[in-house]
Amino acid sequence: MKIVLLGPPGAGKGTLANLLKETFDLWHVSTGDILREEMKNKTKLGKEVNRYVDQGALVPDEVVTEIIKNKFKNNGRLQQGFMLDGFPRTGVQAEELDKILSKEGQPLDFALYMKASLPVILGRLTGRRVCRSCGSLYHIINKPPKKANVCDECGGELYQRPDDNEETIRTRMKVYTKSTKPIIDYYKKQNKLKTVNADLDAQTVLTVLMSILDENKKSHQHKNSR
Ligand SMILES: [Zn+2]
Repeated sequence: MKIVLLGPPGAGKGTLANLLKETFDLWHVSTGDILREEMKNKTKLGKEVNRYVDQGALVPDEVVTEIIKNKFKNNGRLQQGFMLDGFPRTGVQAEELDKILSKEGQPLDFALYMKASLPVILGRLTGRRVCRSCGSLYHIINKPPKKANVCDECGGELYQRPDDNEETIRTRMKVYTKSTKPIIDYYKKQNKLKTVNADLDAQTVLTVLMSILDENKKSHQHKNSR
């Protein structure tokens, strides 16, 4: 299974990615993780990325496209299947991705759009708490610590990230929806867009996804047997 994961912050992409990894042994390719790794290892690319981050600028599209190109080039892991997270971010990148994958002979199966409503996203993100010492994540309703504001793991203090407030989340959601529209349209046109209701919990989303995959397989077999 070769897929792109789409969804705004708070849609539960990270949780679903972990479940997919366990269930299908998929290779999780996250541009955020790659960039952090490169910066940590102070590679040539990492240093370049660092310059943008220091200036508070976004890493340019071409740089991110180049990273994906290099990651996928002659990489045997492509065959085992992958889920791409954080890429493409624009319609142009979606086209670039198709070019990269067709060169490797491993075309994309579909794009999974995790569509969540604003109230659900607000609930998930405003309730999030993070441990100051070890970074463990909690949620005041879905995953509360045993003792209020204290980390179960290390006893550290829990806090709310400044950008997990309602106003910032509303803005981020607007920006996301607008910038993602061309990508959604692109995959729709190719008949490769699968939309799941990400208001549901990740386990239910996975079950829904499995049934979509099953139907897909059946219709392919049907086509092939004709
Ligand atoms: Zn902790």
